[in-house]
This record gives sequence, structure tokens and C-alpha cells, in this order.
Amino acid sequence: DRSKRPDYLSGLNPEQTDAVETLEGPVLVLAGAGTGKTRVLTTRIAHILSTGRAYPSQILAVTFTNKAAREMKERIGVLVGHAVEGMPWLGTFHSIGVKLLRRHAELVGLRSDFTILDTDDVVRLIKQLIQAEGLDDKRWPAKQFAGMIDSWKNKGLDPSQIPEGDARAFANGKGRELYAAYQNRLLTLNACDFGDLLLHPIRMFRANPDVLKDYHDKFRYILVDEYQDTNTAQYMWLRLLAQRPQAKSGEISSSSNKNGDGINVPGEARASERWPDDVSSAPAERSRASGDSVSAKKPTQQINICCVGDDDQSIYGWRGAEVDNILRFEKDFPGAKVIKLERNYRSTEHILGAASHLIAHNEGRLGKTLFTERSNPDDEKVHVHAAWDSEEEARAIGEEIEQLQRGKHNLNDMAILVRASFQMREFEDRFVTLGLNYRVIGGPRFYERLEIRDAMAYFRLVCQPADDLAFERIVNTPKRGLGETTVRTLHDYARSRDIPMLAAASEIIETDEVKPKARKALFDVVTDFRRWQTLLETTPHTELAEQILEESGYTAMWQADKSAEAPGRLENLKELIRSMEAFESMRGFLEHVALVMDAEQNEDMDAVSIMTLHSAKGLEFDTIFLPGWEEGLFPHQRALDEGGRAGLEEERRLAYVGITRAKRRCHIWFVSNRRIHGLWQSTMPSRFLDELPIDHVEVAEQEASYGGYGRGGYGQSRFDKADPFENSYQTPGWKRAQQHRSDATRDNWGTRSGHAVERIGYGESGPRTRTIDGE
Ligand code: ATP
Ligand code: MG
Repeated sequence: DRSKRPDYLSGLNPEQTDAVETLEGPVLVLAGAGTGKTRVLTTRIAHILSTGRAYPSQILAVTFTNKAAREMKERIGVLVGHAVEGMPWLGTFHSIGVKLLRRHAELVGLRSDFTILDTDDVVRLIKQLIQAEGLDDKRWPAKQFAGMIDSWKNKGLDPSQIPEGDARAFANGKGRELYAAYQNRLLTLNACDFGDLLLHPIRMFRANPDVLKDYHDKFRYILVDEYQDTNTAQYMWLRLLAQRPQAKSGEISSSSNKNGDGINVPGEARASERWPDDVSSAPAERSRASGDSVSAKKPTQQINICCVGDDDQSIYGWRGAEVDNILRFEKDFPGAKVIKLERNYRSTEHILGAASHLIAHNEGRLGKTLFTERSNPDDEKVHVHAAWDSEEEARAIGEEIEQLQRGKHNLNDMAILVRASFQMREFEDRFVTLGLNYRVIGGPRFYERLEIRDAMAYFRLVCQPADDLAFERIVNTPKRGLGETTVRTLHDYARSRDIPMLAAASEIIETDEVKPKARKALFDVVTDFRRWQTLLETTPHTELAEQILEESGYTAMWQADKSAEAPGRLENLKELIRSMEAFESMRGFLEHVALVMDAEQNEDMDAVSIMTLHSAKGLEFDTIFLPGWEEGLFPHQRALDEGGRAGLEEERRLAYVGITRAKRRCHIWFVSNRRIHGLWQSTMPSRFLDELPIDHVEVAEQEASYGGYGRGGYGQSRFDKADPFENSYQTPGWKRAQQHRSDATRDNWGTRSGHAVERIGYGESGPRTRTIDGE
């Protein structure tokens, strides 16, 4: 009965409504940016809850960031008309993984109070293992191996399952042993890394079908946002949870029995490197995909999975995301209903037109139509601006922001999206000068600063005395005369007795294995930690934190430091204590920090957001600034060098994500000179600028105050003797270049390189910036 339709359903278009109301069976929403995918997921949860189909705790919902999870929860509350109690299983893959692991830690050999290591700790740990093997850690860098382990874990591979070639490639064939040693060491430390947050639950479910069954009974509805960026391990994890073994009645097993894949045969030793190979689907299943027909084999209590995604926004391939998971969906979830959304509700026609035209340069897309009705005659085209250098760029963007502000636009509605985080500093500096509020979202952030890491190591060790990495980090910070020799002695002592280093310290001070001076220093450390540990239960955690930093001499160390950074570090430490107030305990805080993806800054103030393109996924702002569209920076040289054509396409998707964040205004910038690693480089405008449709783009003329741009922004003509456009000063070079090239074929590679040979010389994978003398 339409008249009794709940409020939250009104306003949805028919396809969206379909996606919300199809609660039975697998659903895949495949649609472009801004078409309401996330809104569909949120409304779907509201619908499930308000129709009483499930309790909040029976819904498993995966978002890409913690921030997105919080927002989704708020929205659901608004939609159902009251705050939602619970939703304990709404979060990122990682946060849900932690939760599962805390519950079942013992099944994978951990205790429930395990520590989550950050990358820094991981690298230190691996370095120790490499040295312990008697290998040269210069030849076999720990960082590289950490990357390898991470990518194995992204693929869901245990040490026994990694491909032979991979295992042989590192450390004279010791790759597999090292990986296994690393995993063992983690267990000894009662710790795990980020990859384990996914891998452990997968192993746990496979080895314990009864536990898995409990979750099958529990999670009636599974929902996944940003599905295009799930990696293989995440996909395995989803499949384990979403597919009841008995429900498959031959459909899956017939196709998967050849390699023993699938959850109907739980067990550990599975050749998972073969995992994402073809799971062929029978023709009968294919034909059902389009229809609505109810499957006769439907299990009694079905688990209903709904994933939403956009192949054009897959931007985490470099981190192991498999866009093919979208294609596999229909095969692995037979009878899946695939819903496409075509109306974009976010952006104006110019913005959508620019983005669509750009992304059309990628090959192998699933392809989709997008239209918008959110347009007015006075809509601005996408602006392209040139600046002399990044300082000029930051200054000009600052001015534009101030002008918008005078026009009564909120800073909250504006964002600067950078390709690389180093670009942020320039804007931060400029905005501090202007007194313009800003917040940095995601990326290398507060908690990754040296002083914060040190402080956190103290807190970790208080909460988790077995955390040897934390111990090693701070045992001689501040300096206590506990040099490498002492630490090594301690290390050996701890290893030989299989106890944590802090415990070893308290034993060793009773012996004469270390020199008297070191013994006294260790005695102090041990006494301090014992005291702090007893205070943990009685003293408010912020107070205790402050006390720890005071009594350990850590604060004093920075007070005595005369360097320019020291005052800032002390402020950061104060800020750290402040940020703990929002948590009930020190442990809760530590967990938060280990997981945090977004830099939580003062959420309430009106401020411009600064973030990387990668962390802008799913977000939207009235005005978007996209600085740094230069060859080598965007597309990024590393992506081109390492990824070739695929790398370029991923960069282009990133550009697509960037533009489609804008609702009303989009300003793209490129500069002629950029300082990279202290060297001035002359730069070329990004090829992506050439790929924007002229109809939807407006090139700003002569707005910059510097002379450089007056010469025509394209390339660095001032330094380029062979500028073919030497004579045309009036038209900005970028536009000229585009006109020039549109005469030739539209093959962007051919024309681009043909054109460029005249200008500057290209490498295999495209143009490179070239170093010029500093100014
Ligand atoms: P992305 O691919 O960027 O993640 P998305 O497909 O998830 O985008 P949403 O963020 O859900 O899109 O929606 C984009 C915008 O359009 C939001 O502001 C949302 O509230 C709005 N919107 C979505 N559907 C409708 C609708 N039926 N009516 C009005 N506004 C809508
Ligand atoms: Mg979304």
C-alpha cells in the first residue's frame, strides 16, 4: 500500500527503491558516483530495522572508513526516527575483524588483550628476524619484506600458501620461513598486524565450522559499501560469512570442488593462491541473474548480502583491491539481483560531464550511463587554473576560498584533495597565515608523529606488559644509559626464557648480567612501570597518562630540547592527553588509535578539509579544489613506473573520484614549477587535463600574479627553448595544446607522446619532469 509507505522510502527513485526493498537474496548495486549507493545501503538498514526483520546486532555492515561508519549510523538514526541502539557490527573490515578476534583470540593462538602493531613496529620486528637469520638487512630490507607480507595477507595467504616464486624471491629463498617466523613471533608477543585482522578470522572460521555457524545464524543481513575496493582476503571473509555451506546445494560446490575452495570444506591447508580463479557458473544461474524468480533451493534462514560499488572508483589496486570481485559476485552468489542506478544526485552537468568524459579514456570498464537533473543555466564550468609554483597555487586557492567565504559559503562545504600528502603542508602553512580554519583528514597524521608514537609506546606497555616493541622503543627514550649492549642482553635473556622483555628486566636486575649503572636504570624503569600498572585501575586514564609522561622524564626531554620542533612536540603531547578524554579507558584509547583512519579534529568548527584523493572516497562537498595536476605528480610517476597502463588507469579513476566529489564547483590547478625533495623541477600539465571535454571546462586566463603563467601555462615555456607555441601568448597553453591535439587523432598516448617529443622527451611510461636549476 503506497499511501502507508514509510517516510524514509519517499524520494527514492524506482531503482533505488528496488535495491532497498529487495531484502531476500543477494543484491549487487553497480552504479556511478553520486547515484545514491551509500544512501541505498543506509535506507536498506533503516528498512530492515523498522520492519522488524532483524535486530541491530544481526546486521553486519561494512564501510570503508570509520568516519563513514559513524555517519551511516547517524543517518540510520534519523531515518528510523530514533537513535539506533547498538549496530555493533557496523564498521570497517578491520574494526569488525578486531571485534571478532577479541572474542575468539584463543582459537588462533592469541589472548584477547592482544596488541595491534602499526607499520613502524612491524618493520622493526621484521628487521630483528632478518638479523636473527644472519642475513644482511641492507641487502634484504625489512620494509620491503613487510610489503610482501602485507600483499600476501591481502590475498589471504598463510606462509604455507604463498607462491613458490614469491618465497624464493626474498632472502635467498628464506621468504616462507621468515614469514612463518614472523607469524610465530607475533603470537609470542600476543600481537597482530593489520593483515591479521582479516586473516585470523578467516583461519578461525575455516578451522571452526561451529563458530562460523553461530555467525551464520546471527548475521541475517550483510551490507558492503565501496565494494569495488575489497581485496581478496576481505572477499574470502565475506563469502565465508555470507554463504551457508548447506545452502549451496551443489551450486557452488560443483564449480569449486576442483580446488577444494569454498567454505563447505573447512580446513587450513588450501591452495589459496589459486583462489580467485574461475568459478564457472552454470547457464541456468546466468539466466536467473536478471530475473526476480525465487530460487526453489532457498535455504530456511537465508543470509542476505547486498554490496554496492562502482568499478570506476576502484583506487586501491596498489593495496591489493580486486575490482574483479564485482564480476565474481554474480557467479559466487547465484541468483544475484544486479541493480544499476543512473541518476546522479550530487553534481551539476558540467562536473558530471567532465568526469564522465575523463573516465571514458579507460579501457575495460563495465560502462554505465549517468545523468543529472541538478543543473542550472548559471552553473560554473569546471575551472582549470595555472600557477607558477605550489606557493602561488596555495595562495590563489586561499584567495578563492576567502572569496567564497565572503559570498556566505561555509568552509565546511569546501575541500582540497591532493594526490600526495606532501602537498598538504603548503596549504596548511598558507591557511595558518590567513587564519583560515582547516582540518586534515586521513593520511599521515597526528598519531604518526614521533613524539606521539613514543608516548603511545609508554601507554601500550603499561596496558600490555608483553609488548616488547613498545618496550624497545622507549627503554632508552629519554636516554637512561641503556645502550644497545644492555638491550641485547635483555633480549637474549627474554628469548631464552620465553618471557617478555619487561619481565626479563625485572629478573635481570637481580643478577649481575648487566653493569651496575644499567642495572640501576633498569630498576627505575621496572619500578615505574609496576607503579603505573597498579594505577591503571584506580587513576583516571588521562591523569595517569600525564603522570607517565612526567615521571618517565619524557616531557622533560622535550623541554630541554632546543630544536625548533620541540615546542610543537610538547603541544602535540598535550593534545594527545586531551584526545584521550573522549575514551573511557586507556585500553579503549589505544585500540582507537590503532584503528583510526581519520584524523579526528575539532568536528564542530567551520573548516576547509584537506585530504588525499584516496581518503575522499564516498564524500561530497559543494566546492572541490584539485591542485597539482601535473605529469609525474598526477598521474603519479610511481604508478606509471610500477603499474604501466593499469597504473595509469588507476590514476585516472582517482581523478574521476576527485572531480565527482564536487556538487557545484570544481577548480583544478597545475603549476609550472614544483619543488620535490628540495629540488626545483619544471613540470608539465597532467595529461588528464587534455582528457577533459572543452564544453564543460573553463580555462582561467591570466589570473595569477606571477609572470610565469603569463607565458602560457603549458609546460615550462620559460625554460623551454623549443616551445612550438612560442607566439601565442593570449591563450593559455593548456587550451592551445588541447586544440592542437584535437586535430590529430584522439589517441591520447599517440598524440601526447608525438607532441611531447618535440617538447621535452618522454620516458617509456609517459613524460617525466626534468630538473632545472634552483631559483
Ligand atoms: P559515491 O560513488 O561517490 O560513493 P554514492 O553512489 O554512494 O556516491 P550517495 O553519496 O549515496 O552516492 O549520494 C549522493 C548524493 O545524492 C547524496 O547527497 C545523497 O543524499 C543524494 N541522493 C541520493 N539519492 C537521492 C534521491 N533519491 N533524492 C535526492 N537526493 C539523493
Ligand atoms: Mg558512496
